[in-house]
Amino acid sequence: MKTLRSKILLLLFPFNLFGIPQYLYAFQTEYAREVVNTLASDDFYGRGYVKNGDKKAAEFIKKEFERFGLLSFEDNYFQSFNISINTFPKQIQLSINGKKLTAGKDFLVEPGSPSVQGTFEVVELTADDILSNDKFRSKLIEIPDKFTVLLPYEIKEITELKKTESDRFNSILGFLKYGFSRNPSAGFIEFTESKLTWSGSTRVEGKASFIVSSSALSKPIQKIKVDVQNKFFENHETQNVIGYVEGERTDSVITLMAHYDHLGMMGEAIFTGANDNASGIAMLLSLAKHFSTNKPKYTIVFIAFGAEELGLIGSKYFVENPLYDLSTTKFFLNFDIAGTGDDGIQVVNGSVYRTEFDRLVQTNQEANLLPAVRIRGAACNSDHCMFDQKQIPGFYIYTRGGIQAYHDVFDRPETLPLTEFRDYYQLMIKFISEL
Ligand SMILES: [Zn+2]
Repeated sequence: MKTLRSKILLLLFPFNLFGIPQYLYAFQTEYAREVVNTLASDDFYGRGYVKNGDKKAAEFIKKEFERFGLLSFEDNYFQSFNISINTFPKQIQLSINGKKLTAGKDFLVEPGSPSVQGTFEVVELTADDILSNDKFRSKLIEIPDKFTVLLPYEIKEITELKKTESDRFNSILGFLKYGFSRNPSAGFIEFTESKLTWSGSTRVEGKASFIVSSSALSKPIQKIKVDVQNKFFENHETQNVIGYVEGERTDSVITLMAHYDHLGMMGEAIFTGANDNASGIAMLLSLAKHFSTNKPKYTIVFIAFGAEELGLIGSKYFVENPLYDLSTTKFFLNFDIAGTGDDGIQVVNGSVYRTEFDRLVQTNQEANLLPAVRIRGAACNSDHCMFDQKQIPGFYIYTRGGIQAYHDVFDRPETLPLTEFRDYYQLMIKFISEL
């Protein structure tokens, strides 16, 4: 339906107000869709460290850079570095009272978990048991070689506590979950009413631990059966992918960045990361494509970072081992989550670089593009943070509104709408050209 409608509009209005043929924009959205569908397909294994998903994604980006004729600082576009990473390449099983749960939908294994196999008895705990010294002590006696299970509790119960009490709760939770050497349990399960949100880990913790959706709870829990096998890589080689387009002026550089890595696989569950951040790479590549045939005023460096999800490791490596003089950076833009936009975009560092923010707002208003351009202060929540720490000016921009899937198995290409991608892309071209 949508495609048909836009084709009809295209025939009626082949040129928009700015004299840029509309088919160019349509083409760009098509290209972005292609990039998202490719990078977030199951064949890229969630761009993590099972089945070399990271390498496969990096190779794809490298081929696109090559195709657009981007220049490279070294013999190729790769900047390699090593990471430690805990992975789960084999099927993960968790059954409660004989009912087999689905990995990714019903439960997650904590990313730092070691292997654990077997059938176990459980010790159930409530938030109240943890908060009371006496109750917790009596439970502690029961836990050796059993799974400790924390039953659903209201987060509110904990956040409204006195600081000393909530500190106690969190440190006991950490003890149960990550199993410091004194924890004699076989493992830990926490039931939650919140959405399941996964991450990655660069180390292996003491105990295996799960977070389970409270909808999968069947009380009382009599037996649990688990099978988790982790595989830890001490020194996995991964990479940033870096290219540039020379501008009319080469004394200053504009740096565009997006991370391509995501969480990979947890057993059979694939975290495809369509919004986070195949969409940001789609923006990066769309802009690389544009500026490779439209010579920019300043040289533009394009960086696809690896290992962002593990704690901004790729960007940290880059600012410590830069391929150009970072002090010549006129401005940077970091694209991390670009797939919706129903509520416009949010601009991290907007209040830090107010002149550029005001210009962005004005450009957006004049061209009547995005529904909103919202200001935000500094936040160390993506790769730009490493540039912030070096006092290099720039924005981190993300889209707002629309689907809420995030760090879960539901962040998939078939449900990512790219609602405002075309307008966002158009705004970025204008903004970069005006810098
Ligand atoms: Zn991200």
